[in-house]
Amino acid sequence: MRIDLHTHSRVSDGTESPADLVRSAAAAGLDVVAITDHDVTGGWAEAAAAADETGIMLVRGIEISTRYGWAGVHLLAYLPDPDDPALGAELARIIGGRDARVPTMLARLRGLGIDGATEEALAEVTVNAGATGRPHVADLLVRLGVVADRDQAFAEYLSHGRPAYVDRYASDLVTMIGLVTGAGGVPVVAHPWGRGNDRALTEASFATLADAGLIGIEVDHLDHDAGQRAQLRAIADRLGLVVTGSSDHHGTGKVDHDLGVETTAPDQLQRILDRAAELGSPTTLVGAA
Ligand code: AMP
Ligand code: ZN
Ligand code: FE
Ligand code: FE
Repeated sequence: MRIDLHTHSRVSDGTESPADLVRSAAAAGLDVVAITDHDVTGGWAEAAAAADETGIMLVRGIEISTRYGWAGVHLLAYLPDPDDPALGAELARIIGGRDARVPTMLARLRGLGIDGATEEALAEVTVNAGATGRPHVADLLVRLGVVADRDQAFAEYLSHGRPAYVDRYASDLVTMIGLVTGAGGVPVVAHPWGRGNDRALTEASFATLADAGLIGIEVDHLDHDAGQRAQLRAIADRLGLVVTGSSDHHGTGKVDHDLGVETTAPDQLQRILDRAAELGSPTTLVGAA
C-alpha cells in the first residue's frame, strides 16, 4: 500500500485540476491519496469523482493556516464535515484574509516598477483558485518575465521580510484543533520543522497540542532532514502521536515534490481512520482501497 496524505490542486496553489491530481496519483501507483488544498474544500467533489473512476482511495482533507505564538503552522485536517458551521466560519475568515492582502501585494509590486502586477493579470494565473496565495503572485511574476520561477519570486519579493510580503490572518492553532475535532476531523501538524520554522514547536508544545486533541505529526516531508525526522519520530513515539509522510505535491509549482516521493505507513493511516470514526466523521472515503 502506497499512501500520500498531503497534496494540492489548483483550487489552492497546486497546478493541476483536482481530477487530474487524482488521476496522476493513480498513475504514480498510489493506493491512497489525500487532497489537502489550503483552507478550502472546493476540490473535494471533483477529486472524489475521479477517485471513483480510477479506483484509488481518496482521503478528503484541508491544510489550514494557523499560528502558534510567533510561528506560522500548517494544520492538516482529515475527513472533517465540510458543512460544519463553526469550522466553515473560521475557514471563511482565513480566505477573507487571503483575498484582502492581494491588492496590497500588487500595489507594492507596481510601486517597484512592475506595472503588469494588476488584479486582471493575476486573475489569469489563478485558474479556478479557491484560495489565492503568494504562489499565484509568484506565477504572475514569472509570466511577466520578472523572475524565472516561484522560488526566485519568493526569495526576491514574497518571503517574509521581502518588499511585497504582506501578513494575513491565520487561526490560533489550539482553537483550530478544537474546531477540526468538533467537525469530526483528525488534526495532524504539517511539516512542523520545515522552512524557517525549525524547532518552533518543541516537545513541550507538541504535548500541549496533544492534550488539545492533536493526533499526529507529519514527519516524512522533504523539508525535514534525517536528523529532524529522527527527533520528530521520537517525540511522536513518546506522546503516542501518529506519524505521517507525504509529497506535499503542488504539480509543477514545487520542484522535487513528486506524488508518492514520501509516504505514510498503512497502520498510521488506519489510526487516522479509526479516530475519524470515533469522532463520528460524516466524510466518507471514496473509491476502493
Ligand atoms: P501563502 O499561503 O500565500 O502564505 O503562501 C505560502 C505557500 O507558498 C506555502 O504553502 C508554499 O506552498 C508556498 N511557498 C513558500 N515558499 C515557497 C518557495 N520558496 N517557492 C515556492 N513556493 C513556496
Ligand atoms: Zn501550498
Ligand atoms: Fe504547508
Ligand atoms: Fe502543503
